[in-house]
Amino acid sequence: MTTARILDFIRTRRPDGPCLVVDLDVVRDNFQSFSKALPDSAIFYAVKANPAPEILRLLANLGSNFDCASVAEIEMAMKAGATAHRVSYGNTIKKERDIARAHALGVSLFAVDSHEEVEKIARAAPGARVFCRVLTDGEGAEWPLSRKFGCVPQMAVDVLVYAHQLGLTSHGVSFHVGSQMTNPEAWDSALGDAKRVFDKLAQQGIHLKMVNMGGGFPTRYLKDIPTAQVYGQAIYASLRKHFGNQLPETIIEPGRGMVGNAGAIKAEVVLVSRKSDEEDVRWVFLDIGKFGGLAETMDEAIRYSIVTARDGDAMEPCVLAGPTCDSADVLYEKTPYPMPVSLTIGDEVLIEGTGAYTSTYSSVAFNGLEPLRSYVI
Ligand SMILES: *Cc1c(COP(=O)(O)O)cnc(C)c1O
Repeated sequence: MTTARILDFIRTRRPDGPCLVVDLDVVRDNFQSFSKALPDSAIFYAVKANPAPEILRLLANLGSNFDCASVAEIEMAMKAGATAHRVSYGNTIKKERDIARAHALGVSLFAVDSHEEVEKIARAAPGARVFCRVLTDGEGAEWPLSRKFGCVPQMAVDVLVYAHQLGLTSHGVSFHVGSQMTNPEAWDSALGDAKRVFDKLAQQGIHLKMVNMGGGFPTRYLKDIPTAQVYGQAIYASLRKHFGNQLPETIIEPGRGMVGNAGAIKAEVVLVSRKSDEEDVRWVFLDIGKFGGLAETMDEAIRYSIVTARDGDAMEPCVLAGPTCDSADVLYEKTPYPMPVSLTIGDEVLIEGTGAYTSTYSSVAFNGLEPLRSYVI
């Protein structure tokens, strides 16, 4: 699944040390698949998935909008060519002075999930449009987003009424079904919640316009995933079911689904060893681990596809670990990872589907290791 361009780059450039290589052709294909699958939804790329300038520039040229979580991300999106009206400040937790800076840059679309945040926006970005995020249960997501963001739908009604009272434009409702959502039906109940919020506000004379359907679109790791088309059909059917003929404006915010399969990490085996003569499980240590960009292996949640040149040989389950002096820096132990018995110190491995949530997660100098280098080709 890693593209020939990436493999070629690694073979000919022989970059030293672990590195991520991202193929822009795949990002372009993903953008076009989303556009086709949900032709009436505006795409707001979730910048945090991979903010490489080349990716932002490509997406800006293709007409993407950007979901940003900080002023720095807003500035990156604008530097890549997006105007402020193509940017959403989608984090529900913002400093008031950052809201003011975003407002000064021209951003006029903000996420909220509390009365307190509405007050900040009313003071720092008067007249702005706000959407309120509602909680979802995260059921079925391989990287669920817990209860950190969003409020219950009834509170969303109150928050949006309050925003209206404070002179803001109550624009809509948002949700995120959880990242790496492998069930295309997962949007249905959240869209039902959104519709109920729309109805309750309409009863008070406030007419919402927009539903932000978030991210959650998966990347293929070890298991097959449904296509964007399948997600588009399921989501459209749910929109129809809940909103009938009065479809709202919709937004999607793909992060992982836009860039995950566009990248692969080249890494190297540093050590293969055992803990005792009796135990036969081997430990394979790579030059990249949780702190070098593979943070989503936390609780072994995301299980990457790892390819070696010896994959035709006999395989046996190994514990896979990173290079730092931190005992948490173990990737797969509860469910050991099958690796070739012949795997040797110095062998190169390719960790596939790592275009999203890797470079942004890598630490700056843990044990003096440099942050994950990335090449965008
Ligand atoms: C991270 C994030 C996304 C992207 O989620 P994916 O599961 O990577 O698609 C979308 N919207 C918001 C608000 C986010 O914080």
